[in-house]
Amino acid sequence: MNTKKKDDQPFGPLHEEIISLKNSQKLIFHRLQELGFSVSKLHNFNNARRSTECPAFTVECDAVVVGSGSGGGVIAGILANAGHKVVVLEKGSYLARSNLSLLEGPSMDQMYLGSGLLITQDMDIMILAGSTVGGGSTVNCELYKEAMKIVCEKMGVQSEIEDEGMGCKNGKKKGTAETWLVDLVKSGNGAILPECEALEVIHEEKNDNSLKHKAIGVTFAFQNIEGMREICMVKSKVTIVACGALTTPSLLKKNSPSKSNDIWPEAEKKSYEGGIMTAMSKVVANFEGSGYGAVIQTAGLHPGMFSALMTWVSGQDIKMRMSKYSRTAYILAALARDIGSGKAFSPYSISYKLDQLDEEKLKAGLEKTLRILAAAGAEEIGTQQEKGRSLKVNEASSKEFERFVKEESSIEIGKHSVPICSAHQMGRCRMGTDPTNSVVNSNGETWEVEGLFLGDSSVCPTAIGVNPMVTIQDISYCTAQSVLQLLKNQKLG
Ligand SMILES: Cc1cc2nc3c(=O)[nH]c(=O)nc-3n(C[C@H](O)[C@H](O)[C@H](O)COP(=O)(O)OP(=O)(O)OC[C@H]3O[C@@H](n4cnc5c(N)ncnc54)[C@H](O)[C@@H]3O)c2cc1C
Repeated sequence: MNTKKKDDQPFGPLHEEIISLKNSQKLIFHRLQELGFSVSKLHNFNNARRSTECPAFTVECDAVVVGSGSGGGVIAGILANAGHKVVVLEKGSYLARSNLSLLEGPSMDQMYLGSGLLITQDMDIMILAGSTVGGGSTVNCELYKEAMKIVCEKMGVQSEIEDEGMGCKNGKKKGTAETWLVDLVKSGNGAILPECEALEVIHEEKNDNSLKHKAIGVTFAFQNIEGMREICMVKSKVTIVACGALTTPSLLKKNSPSKSNDIWPEAEKKSYEGGIMTAMSKVVANFEGSGYGAVIQTAGLHPGMFSALMTWVSGQDIKMRMSKYSRTAYILAALARDIGSGKAFSPYSISYKLDQLDEEKLKAGLEKTLRILAAAGAEEIGTQQEKGRSLKVNEASSKEFERFVKEESSIEIGKHSVPICSAHQMGRCRMGTDPTNSVVNSNGETWEVEGLFLGDSSVCPTAIGVNPMVTIQDISYCTAQSVLQLLKNQKLG
């Protein structure tokens, strides 16, 4: 008998339960059937594996959840725990705890959307989003009434955490891969299929003259044991799309009448030790009384990202900056509750225009950040503006200090040498009460396709202005209750 406590397991609680499709078809079918899913092989001809119309095989279940991140993970766990058969399709791979390198390069490559190299078309904004089992909740920094209480308890919300930003080897970071998805596998009702990219939501017209459509499942692609791309289908009573704000709208557009909005130091201190996100200030959060200000946060930054975000002045200058890496406090100058909007044709083709008011909020945040750093005892302070200027705080007079702060915080954001960063994408398939200006209703179900639910950050009507994971899990928790009700009604009807 295994006497080890679950949390002590070196591979993590999902390790044994993940179903890799890089196995023989016989083994895959056997595992799925063992878990109570019916699997059918529809076509034998050669083209079958290349087409969404003729999938190589079909798995049947009650609910298919696309994406295993903050939103999808919660919904999948709740539905499986309630006794429904759930298949989770996750585009990213699964890394057992023991296989986490915790090194920035390989981790970005293996666990981030676009290997962590996404940027808007004008190269002004870097985009970070998780793409692995657990999605953003596996890679993020974790700053953390019924849904809120349950979600916070599940995540073990705490202020102290010794943790790594590239996954977590000891399971202390309670992302969905350590919580809700564990519920799913423990229930015996769920299957998690990593490295499976959903291609289209499949829907058909209802038989009731309403002209409405009903979702019947999802097609997905994966690389089989021979390295060939195969296309298969999950047939389901309910379909939940939770690919994150960057990807959900593109997936819906592929074969769905659903619309998306498209808008959207001390010397001995080491910056890479201790908690990765430890302090927050709301000093400019209520910008000009609008409620749409910015919060100031600290964040642990790995050396690769640090170097990418440093001003380029010369080779010698960057060497000097990198040599101070461990003693540089990097502050997310301002996490703006933005009102600007953009377009994302796909997660890899994004344009975004910074609104003038958002620019002013960021500048206000920058000003306070410089003051906070100086007050906290920083010897030298600076921003990312193109000349790479800095000020030695103890050597400067108060007049020089004031001039520096004013000048640095009034420079146009676009004139800074490096892009600003976004890791909290939200909106584009907003929840609302009016089908003409929202994509899903208050249950999370799309107005246009019955049985198609969205369970991720894409349903937020606006940016929420704070770290969003708890809110996303809360909304998804409520959406899961609506899905449960629908499945119950289907059973009764
Ligand atoms: C570096 C970083 C730090 C962060 N720090 C914090 C923080 O401290 N606090 C906080 O609250 N939030 C933080 N966030 C934000 C938070 O993690 C996200 O807002 C949240 O995870 C979004 O949840 P989601 O369900 O919408 O999408 P995600 O969690 O991104 O999940 C979407 C999943 O869907 C998968 N997927 C996409 N397309 C497909 C497809 N076609 N088929 C199958 N699967 C697909 C993706 O691979 C991904 O795993 C951070 C994010 C990042 C990247």
